[in-house]
Amino acid sequence: MELFDPATPIQPLIDPVFESAGIHVFIKREDLNHPHISGNKWWKLKYNLEAALAQEHHTLLTFGGAYSNHIYATAAAANASGLQSIGVVRGEEVLPLNPTLTFAVQAGMKLHYVSRDDYRHKTESNFITELEARFGRFYLVPEGGSNELGVAGVASFADSLSTDFDYLCCPVGTGATLAGLIRGWKGTGLVLGFPVLKGGDSWTSEVESFHPQHDNWKLFSDYHLGGYAKTTPALDHFMRRFESHSGVPLEHVYSGKMFYAIYVLAAKGYFKRGSTVLAIHTGGLRPKN
Ligand SMILES: *Cc1c(COP(=O)(O)O)cnc(C)c1O
Repeated sequence: MELFDPATPIQPLIDPVFESAGIHVFIKREDLNHPHISGNKWWKLKYNLEAALAQEHHTLLTFGGAYSNHIYATAAAANASGLQSIGVVRGEEVLPLNPTLTFAVQAGMKLHYVSRDDYRHKTESNFITELEARFGRFYLVPEGGSNELGVAGVASFADSLSTDFDYLCCPVGTGATLAGLIRGWKGTGLVLGFPVLKGGDSWTSEVESFHPQHDNWKLFSDYHLGGYAKTTPALDHFMRRFESHSGVPLEHVYSGKMFYAIYVLAAKGYFKRGSTVLAIHTGGLRPKN
């Protein structure tokens, strides 16, 4: 399935902070892998789409909040693969629809709203049975695309990355992307994850639940900056400066926080001198039109 061009660039990030830390930082532009299914969501959907088609499904059903990158990506991926899609959205319908849901509907996704209470039961079999009674047979993609096939898709991406880097970095939501990098990367360096939600060390067990199979990784759970989708004046300032210096667009939920953390760690001298760092831009940006 040729939905995108996997040959995304790796660019150096030149900055006085990195120079004085004596390190070389690069960015892997997975934000450019597809205009709509961008970044890690493409990797997490890849084998799920293949499985859905192999099992002769006509419909994908998935879950997310009203601003979910995963809802957006799944709508686009289903559309591009000739599948129907259903998005089970947390909370009540708000009109007019926000840009995420407007895009999803335009891509043919049917939206089904459930209360926050009901949404908590979304992985239980009763809840799924009710959805089947309502919508018929579907291929279920869990929230965030974070299942075994999602991790395997990220691992296949990670396998293509050079083993020369000393550190790989990614932001952490559910932890599936980090688990896939740990599992698939053949390098001997460290894989660093930056959780964007509050939750301290609970992320360790989240990541371990995906059986990453190696112990060459570390979480930095102090860079959520107040919690999911929260921002601070320092982060806003950092992102403006970063974007104008590098020309690389960020968003404040994931990539902004990861790069902010990398800068702070570099300034503190965390990375060993002479080392190379590859930060994965996991996407999440939307075309402006
Ligand atoms: C969803 C998302 C993540 C989080 O990935 P997980 O596999 O859930 O940890 C990171 N970056 C972007 C841009 C995302 O949309």
